[in-house]
Order: sequence, then C-alpha cells, then structure tokens
Amino acid sequence: MLINNIPFNKPYMTGRELTYIAQAHANGHLAGDGMFTKKCHAWLEAGMGVYKALLTHSCTAALEMAAILADIQPGDEVIMPSYTFVSTANAFVMRGGVPVFVDIRPDTLNIDETKIEEAITQRTKAIVPVHYAGVACEMDAIMDIARRYELLVIEDAAQGIMSTYKGKSLGSIGHMGTYSFHETKNIISGEGGALLINDKRFAERAEIIREKGTNRGQFFRGQIDKYTWVDVGSSYLPGEVIAAFLWAQMEEAQSITQKRLDIWQKYHDVLASLENAGKLRRPVVPSGCQHNGHMYYVLLESLEKRTEVIIQLKKHGVNPVFHYVPLHSAPAGKKYGRTNGELRCTDNLSKRLLRLPLWRGLDEAQDFVISELQNAVFGLG
Ligand SMILES: *Cc1c(COP(=O)(O)O)cnc(C)c1O
Repeated sequence: MLINNIPFNKPYMTGRELTYIAQAHANGHLAGDGMFTKKCHAWLEAGMGVYKALLTHSCTAALEMAAILADIQPGDEVIMPSYTFVSTANAFVMRGGVPVFVDIRPDTLNIDETKIEEAITQRTKAIVPVHYAGVACEMDAIMDIARRYELLVIEDAAQGIMSTYKGKSLGSIGHMGTYSFHETKNIISGEGGALLINDKRFAERAEIIREKGTNRGQFFRGQIDKYTWVDVGSSYLPGEVIAAFLWAQMEEAQSITQKRLDIWQKYHDVLASLENAGKLRRPVVPSGCQHNGHMYYVLLESLEKRTEVIIQLKKHGVNPVFHYVPLHSAPAGKKYGRTNGELRCTDNLSKRLLRLPLWRGLDEAQDFVISELQNAVFGLG
C-alpha cells in the first residue's frame, strides 16, 4: 500500500445518514424538533441518564444556553481550565462573565480540582470542567466543592460522549452538560451539539431559550393556547436534516466508540516502548474513568522536539496536529479573563502535546504512523 497522505481526521459515516435524511424529506417536516430530533433526545435521555436533552446547532450554542440558564451577570466569575477550546470561555464572556483560568493536572490535562477552591470569590457562579480527550475530570471532588460553595457545575463534555466517570455518563453529573457533534468528534452531524439538563429547575426555561425566548414548546404540546415572547433566547435548535444524520450515528454509537478504542489501544500498546525509552509520555486514564477513544496524544520532551517531529512526520505524509493556545495567553483571554495562580502545567504541556491521526479506516496506515513517529522521535529519517 502506498501511503503518502494520512489525514489527521476523516469523518466516519454509517451509510444510513442519507436514508434518514430522505425520510425527513418525505415527512415534510424540516424545521427542528421533528421525529428525528425526538429520537435523538430520547436516546440521549435514556442512554446517558439525563433528565432532559436538547439538540442544539453546536456545543458552542449549548454552552451559550447554559450561560443564560446559569444567569451569568456582568462581572460574575466562572472557573475553568485555560487549556480548552475557546467556546468554553466565550459562552460566558458573551453574558459579561469573567473566565477564571486555573491550571490543569499533569496526568489527564483536565482542570486540577485541587486548584479550584483557591480561585473562588464572592463573584464565582459556576465551575466548568472540560473532559479533555473524553477522559473524565475528578467529578466527585468538583461536585463537593460546588455543593459547599453553592456553585453550578456545567460539564463541557464536547469530547466526552459515551465516556463514563464511576459508571456515570459524562455530561450527566453536573447541573448541566454539553456535547458536540462537530465532524471532528466521535458521533457527528457536521455541526451539532446537545445541552443536557440534570437539574430539573432548568428544564422549562431551557426549552424557551432554545426557541427564541418563546413558549412555543408548551404551545405545541397543547399546554397553552397561544405562544408568545416570555424570556431572552435565540434560535439554538438544529433542523431535522441534521437530526436525521445524527440519528444514523447514534444508532451505531457503540461500535463507533469500540472501533476508536481499538485504534487508541494499539497506539497505547505499541508506544509503551517509546515511553520506557524516555522519548515521550502517553495519555493517562485514571481508574474509574472509561474513556471513548476520542483522541490519542503524546507528550514530547520539549517544544523544539515537537516542532522537529512534526516536520519529520509531514515530510513522510503524516499529518499530526496540536492544540490549544492556552486561553489565558490568547489576546481575548487576556482581555476578558483572569488567571488564578501559576498555570505551570498548562504552559508546559500545551507546548509538548502532539495529537496523532485517529479515525475509523486508519487500519494499516496506523502502523506507518507509528513507525514514522518512532523514527522522528529518535531523530532518524
Ligand atoms: C469541539 C469543542 C467545543 C465546541 O464544539 P462545537 O460543536 O464545534 O461548537 C467546545 N468545547 C470543547 C472542549 C471542544 O472540544
């Protein structure tokens, strides 16, 4: 097999997406909240053990809804890691909130739960744990802090669908949670997301905010005889074509996850020798956390080494990527956020992290990626 260009990501499609889209078309119901949206909601509620699930057009939208539901007012503080995607912070900044960045743990790269308490002030409203790479944050400790200080917990589980923490689905543990169905995630609809409501207090208002601030949901259920503007809101729901696509993916969620876990495990097994040789560090999955094979990353010894390895891999047609520019060091992060304590792990690890291609169908190309990585870390080739 001639391997000359291995992409970082390749969206997997089950083959039934177009069938369901044709069905949505035949049903003649193309706006949101039709049959496919309802199937997706029911699947999420039953499968993830959440009180209410609402599809959104992105995880970003779900986070924005969560910020409105949390009643974030100008100056309110929200504690989160700096090592995350911009939407985690932006959703709260859009309400006038102030992201307060704390450091991550050296093992999982998740928010360091031991650094949260010292970041709490009179203005703190919420904690936003981000389950990086689909590996759970230390939720027992985080929920305990939230209870003691009466804070809300909004899980950014964008990467965490089908993962669990002590048997509970990610996104089902905090007061609210969010998923992403962006094409780079495990279960996809191009763009897409969901808001998960675990605290019943937020359920009714969530429906209203998602429907432009109207009580249209109650109207369609026959609970009221006309609908009207009752709250702030926006249009956060996806159309049925997106939900139809997503339903095909949800039906196969188990096998999609298992296949990713197999690829993840192969990297993990083979790269053990490079870790033993002191050339890189592999991901750590704490006991009690079942992950979903969302991402395989390695930590190289330095930024210089990473740059060198990327150049080598690209030369041989392998396209690894890295992310994120930590939010506290980004222009908008400096303008809108605040840092609590030193973010040593964030600064250090973000410079050394390299993500390897992980997608269904990688097959033999995975052996090639591994051997090229071996050559690159040893400075060969
Ligand atoms: C992908 C991602 C998002 C954004 O998801 P969209 O569906 O693209 O809006 C937010 N947070 C994290 C941690 C992500 O990985």
